[in-house]
Amino acid sequence: MSQSIIELLQVCEQRLFAVDSPRLSAELLIAHVLECSRLDLVLNKDRMLASAELSQIEELVARREGGEPIAYILGSKEFFGLDFEVAQGVLIPRPETEHLVEAVQERFSPDAEFLFADLGTGSGILAVTIATLFPNAKGVAVDLSPEALKIASRNSVTHGVSDRVSFVQADFTCPLFQPQSFDLIVTNPPYVPLYEYESASHEVVSFEPRTALVSGIDGLDHMRLLLPHVEKALRSNGSFLSEIGYQHGDQLVRMFTDNWPEFYDVLIRKDLSGHDRIIISQRR
Ligand code: GLN
Repeated sequence: MSQSIIELLQVCEQRLFAVDSPRLSAELLIAHVLECSRLDLVLNKDRMLASAELSQIEELVARREGGEPIAYILGSKEFFGLDFEVAQGVLIPRPETEHLVEAVQERFSPDAEFLFADLGTGSGILAVTIATLFPNAKGVAVDLSPEALKIASRNSVTHGVSDRVSFVQADFTCPLFQPQSFDLIVTNPPYVPLYEYESASHEVVSFEPRTALVSGIDGLDHMRLLLPHVEKALRSNGSFLSEIGYQHGDQLVRMFTDNWPEFYDVLIRKDLSGHDRIIISQRR
């Protein structure tokens, strides 16, 4: 049966009632297949859809109905004003991670020359965004997953920074780098405590990689393994910036000051919801 854009929008919105933002999801999926903007849908609401278009839209709406996050269906997600390719093997970029990039911007001037590492790069958002904002910076992005590295490397090509970011497949909780080799180390490690993951939403648990999220019983396993190596790999006065769990701020500040005296000036930044979100520290 033939349908206009507006009729299809209404049907899809109803079908998606159980997911977050059904109307927005319906608009994004239809606009994706028609290769137009959401505004174009409204401007051309009476246009009749071809049966090939209808069947493609049907396939995507069925995936969304099953809870698949919109970013995986569309294959991309915006981060810090840039579009990043994403797929089920990598975590979907979260807006709160943008605070980490803002904190880097506060510490380095736009023309600064520096060497950085991004540990557990996933889709490459941190490494690629930093390389884009700092044209004289060079970086190494590490991930254990070959699939993530392929996506991250494609993102570095899309954003024109592949000559300044290298990708390394490795376990970033092991010693990786020569002592005192980096001016900046950034990471958004897994930090979700197991008990919290067990009650996370269907969208997260069924579609996003568990290995990018869970870090042991209290969510701090990766930090414990990571910090001694980070401390060694940073140059003197080098900065370490990590995204952290909202419940970890005080505990991490204590961990830093008690166990790694080479780190000083340990600061916590909050996100827009008022939760502890970023830890920033410098090495002596
Ligand atoms: N903020 C993410 C979430 O709660 C966790 C990201 C991470 O573990 N690095 O889903």
